[in-house]
Amino acid sequence: MTKQDIKDIKHLLSTKKKIVIVPHKNPDGDAIGSTLGLYLYLLKNNHNVHVITPNDYPAFLKWIPGEANILKHDSKTKDCDALINEADLIFTLDFNAFHRAGNMETVLAESNALKIMIDHHQAPDDYATYMFSDVSMSSTCEMIYHFIDMLGDTDKIDSDIATCLYVGIMTDTGSFRFRSTTSKTHEIIAHLIEKGADNTQIHANIYDSNSFNSLQLLGCALNNLKVIPEYKTAYITLSQEELNRYDYKKGDTEGVVNYGLSLNGIVLAAIFIEDRQEGIIKISLRSKGDFSVNELSRAHFNGGGHTNAAGGRSEASLQDTVDKFISILPSYKKALNNE
Ligand code: 5GP
Ligand code: MN
Repeated sequence: MTKQDIKDIKHLLSTKKKIVIVPHKNPDGDAIGSTLGLYLYLLKNNHNVHVITPNDYPAFLKWIPGEANILKHDSKTKDCDALINEADLIFTLDFNAFHRAGNMETVLAESNALKIMIDHHQAPDDYATYMFSDVSMSSTCEMIYHFIDMLGDTDKIDSDIATCLYVGIMTDTGSFRFRSTTSKTHEIIAHLIEKGADNTQIHANIYDSNSFNSLQLLGCALNNLKVIPEYKTAYITLSQEELNRYDYKKGDTEGVVNYGLSLNGIVLAAIFIEDRQEGIIKISLRSKGDFSVNELSRAHFNGGGHTNAAGGRSEASLQDTVDKFISILPSYKKALNNE
């Protein structure tokens, strides 16, 4: 984002605007934290603002300040489309290609509103009027902090905004341990705590929210864990039957892929989760070091993301998807063993 961009945006936001803020489909902590942090900031500046998510999100995010005002496109499609069509300005946060907004893809693509992208994923599409895209950033929440800072408005960050932004930085950095976590990230976190983000409470709200069933499902996932030492790879499968057995709720499998990566010597971890309703296998990939799961997912699983964390999908059966995954590993043998 150039100085001129910031000047333009400041000018744009100096009068009341109709604004819609959109995160990606199946929004996570960073997607919800960043949209709500920006929402509360723009509300403070007297804009007419709405957050529209493509669909629902996990219960462990349903306490974040402003969350009760979120509109879900899949349950209020007409109202949401009207807001998008009337908007002067649309912020797209934590994604960089319209197809990542699921069924909102068309209405976003057809809207005449000015668009501002704030995102930290690789390979952004070229739809935004103003683009703040930085893959070195830990999270979109960290970028929202920088955005507010660039507008000269960090004084306006109150405890609610601080709480929102803390959530996404914490979840996208794996509680401040991933490589994307910098001294600047910690400086921002310190500032957010000073502004009133209650770090202990936020952590508890997000991570101490297991149900008995979700822990049993984790047990099932760990039982299904397979290791392929030759390729420093570990993977987990969860079939629809297994999800049903433990009364799966959205969010119950969040983070499970990381158990594979916690094994000593493992460089690549995957989880394959069957979704009969959508007729797909949802894939999450994680890696250590320079091995890019973003590239692997783009090349083979119709997805993408970051170097060390990416997602994808497959329309084949669970078994065929796993077979395909195993069949491509030899082509990555050198890269996997270099780590
Ligand atoms: P997760 O495995 O937690 O769903 O996603 C890991 C990272 O990859 C997140 O940053 C997420 O936004 C991104 N991601 C997940 N699925 C996809 C996908 O299908 N396409 C792209 N481009 N990114 C994805
Ligand atoms: Mn993110």
